[in-house]
Amino acid sequence: KDYCKPYGQIRDTCCDYQSVESIQGDTFPKVEALVKSKFFKYYKLNLWRECPFWNDDGLCMNRDCSVETTDESLLPEEWRQEALGAIQMSPRGSAFQPFKVCTYKDQDFCVADDPTDKDVVYVNLLDNPERFTGYTGPSAANVWKAIYEENCFNIVHKMAEGCPTCSTPAVAAPASKSSSSAPFLSSSTTAGQLASIPSNKAQLSALLHTLADTPDDTDNDEVCLEKRVYYRLISGLHSSISIHICDEYFDRTTGKWGPNLECFVNRIGVHPERLQNIYFTYALVLRAVTKLDDYLAQYPFQTGDVAEDEHTRGLIHDLITSTKECPATFDENTMFKGADARSLYVEFRDHFRNVSRIMDCVGCEKCRLWGKLQTTGLGTALKVLFAYEDKSLSYPSNPNLLNHNEIVALFNTLNRLSESLEAIQKFRKMYYERLHPP
Ligand code: FAD
Repeated sequence: KDYCKPYGQIRDTCCDYQSVESIQGDTFPKVEALVKSKFFKYYKLNLWRECPFWNDDGLCMNRDCSVETTDESLLPEEWRQEALGAIQMSPRGSAFQPFKVCTYKDQDFCVADDPTDKDVVYVNLLDNPERFTGYTGPSAANVWKAIYEENCFNIVHKMAEGCPTCSTPAVAAPASKSSSSAPFLSSSTTAGQLASIPSNKAQLSALLHTLADTPDDTDNDEVCLEKRVYYRLISGLHSSISIHICDEYFDRTTGKWGPNLECFVNRIGVHPERLQNIYFTYALVLRAVTKLDDYLAQYPFQTGDVAEDEHTRGLIHDLITSTKECPATFDENTMFKGADARSLYVEFRDHFRNVSRIMDCVGCEKCRLWGKLQTTGLGTALKVLFAYEDKSLSYPSNPNLLNHNEIVALFNTLNRLSESLEAIQKFRKMYYERLHPP
């Protein structure tokens, strides 16, 4: 059945929707298997760093907001805190102070947590899935507002007035062609939501089929490629988070978890540009992953088991090989080429670094975990694509290119995006079937 699959070119990439959906279909089970492996399921972070930009209002106290941490003694010795502490101890003098750890290099697009900080914990990602937590209201709105303001580079503005060269106001949803209300709305849907849910096939098609032709937030001649890419990346991440919320939604009336179609249509479906941006973000991250084939073939995963290390290497190679039949999804060589390339690059990097710091302002532990992980994942992709020449992407010439956390974050971010594309197909099918009941 045709569930109105999107077609055409994904803006600012080298590929079309069909190719991306085809790669996603082939690679999804492989990424899913990879993130369940020992190396990829543990992530190390500080969940309680103070918000550096404003006084936060305290953490969300819902049970679904909290994160279960992992007992370090269960982890391979090489990964543990005391191993890191030992490496960073000065061998001279009586004070034996740890060296001050610089948490980012010039090439980094993120400000990472200090790995020797006593508040740093390991988290098993499989035990703490990203899903609906109920985190909402001014705290969440402030974080998103601050993130989008970073998108505006050096232009001082107020969110309400829009951002003159980066993000124009949201594109209005296509006008309704039918006066009948959608047949699938639940009784809890509000009148406001009802008005914005399209209800016939023509509208569905306009929303989900003709993505390539829809105007989007960056349709403005003044917006250069680099700023468009920056905006799409942030918006794509936001779309992905929203899709996970809608896909694993907690229905308070039934007490059950499950996909919520109204949530998807309202947050994503009626904003085709948000859908476009998630395909864009996936294409960019996938390109970075494919460029790491040689580097990861020699990376020492140090899981404490040589056979497990080899298995991890095999899974990665298999995943990357299955993307190579398709042409590159994103061309990083078109970026940072003009007269102001260097200053634009520094601005781009510094603004992204700020977004990574804003994640410490997220007032819900679980959302903070996945927010920090995914900004680190996107920052790692940007570093791989833009901070190094191709010849430096090899383990023998640049063994410290990526640390444990960056690799875990990159592949888990790819998995999150991949799951979101999978969920989009599911929602498309649900939508179609609601409009065409048997
Ligand atoms: P929001 O999603 O808060 O969006 C705010 C505004 O941004 C919208 O009104 C719209 O103008 C604009 N916007 C929305 N989407 C896009 C897009 N894709 N592109 C461009 N502009 C857009 N909640 C959970 O339940 N689980 C989580 O795991 C979770 N993780 C989070 C992680 C982070 C980093 C943050 C900041 C919040 C997280 N939240 C999470 C909260 C969640 O993202 C929403 O803020 C909340 O559900 C309220 O949603 P909303 O409909 O008011 O709009």
